[in-house]
Amino acid sequence: MGPAETALRHLLDSNYGVSGRLSRLGGENRNFLVESEEQGKFVLKVTAGEPSATEDWEPRIVERLVEAGVALDLPRQVRGKKVRAELAPGTGLEGLRARLYTFVGGVPLGEVREPGRELFRDLGARLAEVHLAWGDETGLLTGRTHEWDLRELARHRSKLAHVSNSGSRRMLERGLRLFEGAGRLRFGELPEGVIHGDVNDENVLTDGARVTGLLDFGDALRAPLVVDLGIALAYALLDRDDPLTLGAELVAGYHGARPLGVAELEVLYPVLIGRLCQSLAIAAERRIREPAHPNWFVTEAACWRTLERLDALEPVPAGRALAANTGVAIHAEFNVDSAELLARRKALMGASLSLSYEEPLTMLRGRGPYLIDHTGRPHLDLVNNVCHVGHAHPTVVGALARQAALLNTNTRYLHPGVLDYAERLVATMPAGLEVCYFVNSGSEANELALRLARAATGRRGMLVVDGAYHGHSSALIDISPYKFKGPGGAGAPESWVSVVPVADGYRGAHKGQGRDAGEAYARELERVLAAAEEPPAAFISESILSCGGQVVPPEGYFKAAYAHVRAAGALCIADEVQVGFGRVGEHFWAFELQDVVPDIVVLGKPIGNGHPLAAVVTTRAIAESFANGMEWFATFGGNPVSAAVGLAVLDVIRDEGLQERARTNGSRFLEGLRDLAAKHALVGDARGVGLFLGIELIRDAETLEPADTECAELVERMKRRGYLLSVDGPLHNVVKIKPPLAIQLEDVESVLGALDEELTSMGDVSGGEK
Ligand code: PMP
Repeated sequence: MGPAETALRHLLDSNYGVSGRLSRLGGENRNFLVESEEQGKFVLKVTAGEPSATEDWEPRIVERLVEAGVALDLPRQVRGKKVRAELAPGTGLEGLRARLYTFVGGVPLGEVREPGRELFRDLGARLAEVHLAWGDETGLLTGRTHEWDLRELARHRSKLAHVSNSGSRRMLERGLRLFEGAGRLRFGELPEGVIHGDVNDENVLTDGARVTGLLDFGDALRAPLVVDLGIALAYALLDRDDPLTLGAELVAGYHGARPLGVAELEVLYPVLIGRLCQSLAIAAERRIREPAHPNWFVTEAACWRTLERLDALEPVPAGRALAANTGVAIHAEFNVDSAELLARRKALMGASLSLSYEEPLTMLRGRGPYLIDHTGRPHLDLVNNVCHVGHAHPTVVGALARQAALLNTNTRYLHPGVLDYAERLVATMPAGLEVCYFVNSGSEANELALRLARAATGRRGMLVVDGAYHGHSSALIDISPYKFKGPGGAGAPESWVSVVPVADGYRGAHKGQGRDAGEAYARELERVLAAAEEPPAAFISESILSCGGQVVPPEGYFKAAYAHVRAAGALCIADEVQVGFGRVGEHFWAFELQDVVPDIVVLGKPIGNGHPLAAVVTTRAIAESFANGMEWFATFGGNPVSAAVGLAVLDVIRDEGLQERARTNGSRFLEGLRDLAAKHALVGDARGVGLFLGIELIRDAETLEPADTECAELVERMKRRGYLLSVDGPLHNVVKIKPPLAIQLEDVESVLGALDEELTSMGDVSGGEK
């Protein structure tokens, strides 16, 4: 008898007055079976002491089930002399605690040969009864979390690195994405309560035909109730021939006792997949730590086999199959046929509007940084700087719906909404930028900016940056070299547009000149200004160039450029349509990165998180010069619904710390992209600020020959893996990265990993020459 066993025996005797045979039980925990001739059987559990001591709440939740008459045998804690029995020093068990439970007999679900459907129905029904019995335990377990808390699954993402087989790793990556995009991000919509947390096939006891007992309440949590059902499904369906049919029985059993809502049924399948992935990710990491552990890997192989089988299915039909016996219709919006949509689109919409990717995607839902396609698979959206705070953000959706149900009308009436909003917006701007105009799109806002500049200066000319895009109206195409120089473009328009070179530190006349490049490019602007056929009303520029190729102008550029522009009597317009609203992290507006104050600021895209809203903010003097008697009016601009949406977006950015997240996640992203540039010859440059990033692909480090086809291929490969990126830049060789700010650090790591793998499999490892 070793010192540990002696200590346990001593504790059994002194604290509980029990003596008998001790034998180790299987399973995750350190449990011992105690068999005494006279006193019967017990289970002794040895665990680490916890801050929220299991001793306090576990008996309460178990007793609650007993009181409610739940028809299950349950392990009851045996009261000892001391509630908290700590194990003595010198035993190898010091610091641990032991608790004694009554023994519950039965055949574990996992050992039932060919279980019938009734058994699955019964498990569902019992679990629902357990949840109903706990229904009024409000407040209990609030804040508790642990390694197996499925809500925190993202924490385990880094463990994927321990899975050496790349096919298996990708399968886990897909599973985690399904859980996150179609599951966890909807948890806020679901009814919560106390959950068991580990309804696995060893903790469910049966008599072969019905469920008779439930063990191990140590993983209990407060969480969406349906998480428990998903966990139960994950284990009950391991290695079953017909998992979804049996799963549907389990779900129906549950639904009969506690009816499930549409949202609960829709997240169920992602939760099931999430649990399999969690178990596998934890096992992968444990294999590194203790590969021969007797209990840790008992379900691992079955989890892999089951996940592989389910991974081949489309999530929407699989989810519907699970809900088949409930009579509740789920995923209603997923009844579309992509081929038919494509044909209708071709017939009904102008052909100049392109679709992304070689094989277009059909998207039917969005959540956080994910877009969900017609099969139910989430894709990580890395290019949508419109759904800035995350797709379908509940706060924004709620504000929109509330106001739409009250009033929506034009701004020729007094209403507090637009004023509250204008005040909040102006408060984010430097002093002096204090008058707002609200419109419906970035194009409309830039059009208005042009009119304001012309009214204030009495001039017509414009100074624009090469490669820039400012909108789709006639005048804006004329000031967008991205368009007029591109396919179908008519070339530089009449005399009123003068084009200045992009202040590009990587490519261009002043590349590699560091700090001096800013001044040098500004001097080029000065030369263009002096040579302009018509004196410009304004210089318009994005604060970081987007369509121009994710180019961050060198430090000092805007200060010097603005000085030249103003000296020539022109105004400065900052187009913040792509880069504003905290995206750059350090600042709320990207023009602040270079410590300049524009005369007119143009806002769009993220401002309404997808709702058509845009704005122009300017000085009082400019606004007054525009008010020359001609009325300005935009029917929908600044209506109460748009104002409510705009306010909600500002609230979410503040309340969720999104600017700060853009800073920290963005700096990790850029660091990772720079590592890729160091490793892969194809990646010539990695650049950006906050969550406005890009990599430029080249074929030759000397000539910087643009790798355009490779760029398109990389974007297609990433798309097939579930990462949505786009190609941009005048040479079509820049991968554009500008995700919703709701992206998590784990998402960033997974994109970086996937980019590295895809670049490697495209044959691009420089072998240390770079
Ligand atoms: N300015 C910039 C910098 C843009 O990127 C865009 C749109 N891509 C616009 C203006 C025009 O905005 P919208 O498409 O909302 O008219």
